Amino acid sequence: MKAAWDYHLFADGYCLQLEGFSIKGGRWHVIRFPSMMALLQHPRHGAILFDTGYSERFPAATKSFPNALYRWLTPVTVDPKMTAPAYLARRGLNADALSLVVLSHFHADHMGALHDFPNAVFSCSRRGLESIEGKSSLAGLRHAFLPELMPPGFRSRAEFVEDKPQVTLADHWRPFENGGDLLGDGSLVAVDLPGHAIGQFGLAFDGREGRPVFLVADSCWSRRAYRENLTPSLLGWIPQADRSAYVETLQKLHELHCRSPEIRIVPTHCDEGEGE
Ligand SMILES: [Zn+2]
Repeated sequence: MKAAWDYHLFADGYCLQLEGFSIKGGRWHVIRFPSMMALLQHPRHGAILFDTGYSERFPAATKSFPNALYRWLTPVTVDPKMTAPAYLARRGLNADALSLVVLSHFHADHMGALHDFPNAVFSCSRRGLESIEGKSSLAGLRHAFLPELMPPGFRSRAEFVEDKPQVTLADHWRPFENGGDLLGDGSLVAVDLPGHAIGQFGLAFDGREGRPVFLVADSCWSRRAYRENLTPSLLGWIPQADRSAYVETLQKLHELHCRSPEIRIVPTHCDEGEGE
């Protein structure tokens, strides 16, 4: 039997957004969108980070125009004590020693701390990378991409999920059928979640006590969205890359939740706390 992953969810900050923006029928009051990350630990594979939050680089990179637009649209608060390297240090891990960072997509609130892991391989989507590579700050803004957050030589350190062997997921993951086998033993599977951003994927794995976990990044913004199959509001469609793919992915997550409620589905920005 495959060993399970221990995992910890944590956030280094949040942005403010209207609930009515994120889901159709939501109230027009301000809610927090936490910038969630996950630290995964495995007896054989060691420590892996899924996404890297804002870090203190995000406020620094959005001080002036045009990047400041990003911050004006979604006011951001960052807690320096909870950034990815700070959180790892609290758990006795050194950011310099981390060997793998999995990046779900290239939006600024997921890639803030990439600079802080100088020796890590970046597991990411080639299509996602090619959609933002070489983009200026102004051109990148439309894709929520800040070039300042990309470490130099990123591509030479990247390992693309598209190149990984495909594995068939167990029945309880239906309607999701397969994904990229990131570590060669089927213990960590990158599952395509198209719609929100080009190349976006999530991570499927067995967590503590064998409970399956699905980190679904920004394929929806809340647990309520997949539970009730609620799409974004009219304005909430603006940042999405592909509307029909988004609808299809959300429908699949809704089906997965109905068929296999034991799977813990974790959207990055859901404020419905479940603890670690
Ligand atoms: Zn995003």
